[in-house]
Amino acid sequence: MSDRKAFLARKLSDAKTALGPKTSLLIVSKTRPLEDIQMYYELGHRDFGENRVQELAEKAELLKVKCKDIRWHMIGGLQSNKINQLFAIEKLFAIHSVHSQELLDKLMAAERRLAAPVEIYLQYNTSKEEEKSGFETYTELEAAAETALRSNKLVLAGLMTMGTLRTENFEREAGRCFQELQVEKQKLEAELNLKLKTSMGMSQDYQIAVREGSDMVRLGTMMFQ
Ligand SMILES: *Cc1c(COP(=O)(O)O)cnc(C)c1O
Repeated sequence: MSDRKAFLARKLSDAKTALGPKTSLLIVSKTRPLEDIQMYYELGHRDFGENRVQELAEKAELLKVKCKDIRWHMIGGLQSNKINQLFAIEKLFAIHSVHSQELLDKLMAAERRLAAPVEIYLQYNTSKEEEKSGFETYTELEAAAETALRSNKLVLAGLMTMGTLRTENFEREAGRCFQELQVEKQKLEAELNLKLKTSMGMSQDYQIAVREGSDMVRLGTMMFQ
């Protein structure tokens, strides 16, 4: 095994130990080389996240033979003029960044282009930071969830959020954001009689996310360096 692969194997086993049995791992591979992704794949990992459609499409194309069971997750801001390109990606598994009713409507209007069902997560803006996108109120979230339930190809899988970045006490703030997402999730589950997951936690705050019961953390930096 190459030094690099041994290094990544170690990262993977450390991450799994830290996450425990209830939280799954999405490796955020944006800006990372194909070789690293392929090594993680060979080590048995399947879920990878990207935040730009162009980069995701290129990587998916170049890895489609060697990594045929890969599951690609779109996690970044999505513009409506990129939807067709996104939907043409064969191994697209989930979209974590459905941030508005308008975007959801456009995704549904284009869904016949999808070869297979794709999971979606509604992004909720728990930090209320200006530059973050996402639904702002429970009412909007519930309306979007009801819309998503009418889709034939988009499968409502859960809610996604990001913790506050600029704050003096980021641990307390992240805890507050993640707890709020759980509350909204439970309300939606009860109201619409569904089972949903949470996508929350990144390299700097994943331990807090695990403590708050995250179903999936999205780890980039700490998985590669
Ligand atoms: C980049 C990114 C991550 C991973 O961030 P790291 O700090 O590198 O772990 C997670 N979620 C989203 C939406 C991202 O854009």
